[in-house]
Amino acid sequence: MDAYPMSYTSPSRRHSSRIYQDLARYRLSNRACTDVKIQQLVVDFQSKLLTRSHSTTPEICVVGAGLAGLRCADILLQHGFKVTVLEARDRVGGRAHQETLPSGHLVDLGPNWIHGTDHNPILDLAKTTKTAMHTWGEKFKVFGADGNLLGEGREYNDVMWKIIAQAFKYSAQNTSTINPNESLKDFFEKKLLEEFPGQADLDKKEILMQMAELWGAFVGSPVYRQSLKFFWLEECIDGENLFAAGTYKEILATIAAPVLAGAKLELSTKVTHIKSCSGVISISTDNGRSLEFDEVVVTTPLGWLKKNKHVFDPPLPPRLSTAIDSIGYGSLEKIFLTFPRAFWLDTPDKQKFTGSIQWLSPQYAKETNPACWNQEVVDLSTLPGSCAHPTLLFYMYGDQSVAMAGELALRNEREQRDKYLVEFFKPYFSRLPNYKEGSKDCMPVSCLATTWVLDDLAGNGSYSTFRTGLLEGDRDIEIMRDGLPDRNIWLAGEHTSPFVALGTSTGAYWSGEAVGLRIADAYGKTARDGGDQHEASKLTTGDSDKEVNIRGFADKELDES
Ligand SMILES: Cc1cc2nc3c(=O)[nH]c(=O)nc-3n(C[C@H](O)[C@H](O)[C@H](O)COP(=O)(O)OP(=O)(O)OC[C@H]3O[C@@H](n4cnc5c(N)ncnc54)[C@H](O)[C@@H]3O)c2cc1C
Repeated sequence: MDAYPMSYTSPSRRHSSRIYQDLARYRLSNRACTDVKIQQLVVDFQSKLLTRSHSTTPEICVVGAGLAGLRCADILLQHGFKVTVLEARDRVGGRAHQETLPSGHLVDLGPNWIHGTDHNPILDLAKTTKTAMHTWGEKFKVFGADGNLLGEGREYNDVMWKIIAQAFKYSAQNTSTINPNESLKDFFEKKLLEEFPGQADLDKKEILMQMAELWGAFVGSPVYRQSLKFFWLEECIDGENLFAAGTYKEILATIAAPVLAGAKLELSTKVTHIKSCSGVISISTDNGRSLEFDEVVVTTPLGWLKKNKHVFDPPLPPRLSTAIDSIGYGSLEKIFLTFPRAFWLDTPDKQKFTGSIQWLSPQYAKETNPACWNQEVVDLSTLPGSCAHPTLLFYMYGDQSVAMAGELALRNEREQRDKYLVEFFKPYFSRLPNYKEGSKDCMPVSCLATTWVLDDLAGNGSYSTFRTGLLEGDRDIEIMRDGLPDRNIWLAGEHTSPFVALGTSTGAYWSGEAVGLRIADAYGKTARDGGDQHEASKLTTGDSDKEVNIRGFADKELDES
């Protein structure tokens, strides 16, 4: 999941929240919990656990070395299992990956935001690794459809986020009765009619509808496809969204370290067949090997599962197969344009033109953008200290990202791709302050664009999303999360995470951790060294004075005026 610099806090209605109850299931090892409702949830959940008996040290295979796989392998190692990690790429990290720009600056091609500051283990890791963090606060600029700066950008932004917050609450409270075909866009249209009933405000309404589209980059899918019924599943951990200015590099390295030290990690090894038979898992790989394990944890992305269900033998049960089909998989791409210097900051107030900048429904660039897709950027030149570089980071989602990746794939040479990107984005960056046609300072010196949508190992997309037509979104997630323990097959990954962290790096991390603990429980094992400080079970201690980390939109006390 990606984000804008924004933050929400609210009082919590802890016990009524589905999100809270869901997160409580991740507290299985917190036996000291005094909260009766949570104890009941734990008992219910434990009663569903399998128990395994084993005379030798069980051997567990983890498929995929993304954040979920790495965290799962770490937990399993802590509990004394023999762990083999099979990873198709020649590196660990999966979607959490960095590349160096020609300028020498490192950038995240996948996650760079940390969603929520309240008991978020990824934030803990950022602090431990001294990863520089940043927030642009309320800095925000919007260009209208004619290419001119909108004077009331702030006002529009406030209305837009108010409606988003109302949509979260409405979705959470009415999920059982909302028509599955209703979209977030429908909700916006209704609310804008209420907010601006007269004909006089048609322009305002249009601008706000265009701004609503910006939500697409958050979920990797357009607002007209965002299910209103399951919009509440997009609720995030409470607190700010922080930008990892120092990138996820050290966070990833810390999560990977125990695996590199203690597991058997096989890179460039793609799993092609998973057969379960009488308590034994046989795994075939693309390099012609056949391996046997006691359990397998499959952490491949949801998009990969959708296209590769045939890998499982016997076939997946119909309900699990339906769950995999039902949850959507979005697309999000990032494009980095680096300039000789940040010319747009050459204003008396240096901080004036930074943060998030948007170009709504551009009517002036139809040659390169005939669909008039919105453009949006985050300015990296105001990151703290040595993290700053004169780079504009554009985000693209949905059909636009598919189209862009297709165009880039047609161009074999880097020069051709860069030329295409500069031509595509020029109508937008040329509207920034101090732009001078022909000035070297105003032309990008390097371009870097992701193409996750073409990456089979990323599931040809970015992360899970909840689309219109979805009937049982929450149940689908739970079904995937349950996996098939009776067949010794477990599923982890962002698509199986606690509801509050679906689609995020935190969710991936928690999902791997939860499966590791469930397997340990099934074998009656306790951690050799007491586990480590980042266990999800310890993140929501009910006996602490602090609010649990589920406060968010669905619990938000809104001023309905
Ligand atoms: C562009 C983009 C921006 C994002 N921004 C953010 C953000 O700002 N904040 C945030 O919290 N989240 C963000 N996310 C989401 C976040 O990256 C993911 O939720 C998280 O990294 C998923 O981790 P995972 O372990 O579940 O999956 P992955 O990281 O995809 O790991 C799965 C692994 O399985 C491997 N694999 C696949 N098939 C096979 C096979 N057959 N055999 C063996 N191995 C296989 C893959 O190579 C991969 O390494 C973003 C994602 C993208 C794409």
